Amino acid sequence: MTRPAIGIDLGGSHATIAIVKGDQVLASHRISLDSAQALRPALDLFSAAIRKLLEEVQMKASECEGVALGFCGLADARIGRVVSTNKKYEDAPSIDFNAWCKEEFGLRFGIENDARMALLGERHVGAGRGCDNLVMITLGTGIGGAAMIEGKLLRGRHAQAGCLGGHLPAKVGGRPCTCGAIGCLEAEASGWALPLMAREWRGFAASKLAKHENINFQILFELADAGDQVAGEIREYCLKVWAAGAVGLIHAYDPEKIVIGGGVMRSANAILPYIQAYVNEHAWTPWGKVEVVAAQLGNDAGLFGAIPLLIGNV
Ligand SMILES: [Zn+2]
Repeated sequence: MTRPAIGIDLGGSHATIAIVKGDQVLASHRISLDSAQALRPALDLFSAAIRKLLEEVQMKASECEGVALGFCGLADARIGRVVSTNKKYEDAPSIDFNAWCKEEFGLRFGIENDARMALLGERHVGAGRGCDNLVMITLGTGIGGAAMIEGKLLRGRHAQAGCLGGHLPAKVGGRPCTCGAIGCLEAEASGWALPLMAREWRGFAASKLAKHENINFQILFELADAGDQVAGEIREYCLKVWAAGAVGLIHAYDPEKIVIGGGVMRSANAILPYIQAYVNEHAWTPWGKVEVVAAQLGNDAGLFGAIPLLIGNV
């Protein structure tokens, strides 16, 4: 049995800190944060939370493998630093996390992009168990991606290989994206793009969507199920964008399995069969069919990624 690890999953509005062991979360704590603010002051909150959690499970820091942080931007595991923030916690690239971790706990530190951490977690104890060739897609406010080839995370020279799956082109001449490109999957069918797309859709004013100030995928799927025509058309478009993205990722990374996670997967019953059928029909995989499966670990996936990141030689 491997030793426990301390995981920190850092999102745009909160951080979850947990002690994980095997397939168990031994203890966890959630902190509200604002990604428009600096991250450095939050390190003291992380330290305090880790001490409290260790106390809760009656463990010394030295009994743990280390601390691993899943970051909502580009991070380079080899140097333990954030590389690019995409406007969240903009001071993060200047932080020496290794030094912080050593000083506070005398432990090793690991960092990765949050989608890569989710892939590692799902492969460790979730939907990707036993699979060495894996693509992860997270459908939420943005679209995250990660790829593992022959048991190794794809990282690349600048730590960005495989994790910009949401920024593959979906539509030439489409909507401008936050990344600087145009018509990315994320710009065409993500949580942030959905309200923009809906308001431009033909017939929007007559749709029940127009009654909602904050249009999200839950509302979209509910109205589509209830027969709202515009909601149905937009849902169909988003499904097509995600499915085409899945085919693009298959052609790029040669996976055996695609794990799809993120908040939008509350509607997995509608999403998975659609993407699987599209992949079966359109992906060029003469060896067989790529399996499209739902993530199993929800928000805990990135926390479970801490163990393989620290000890897994991935
Ligand atoms: Zn983009």
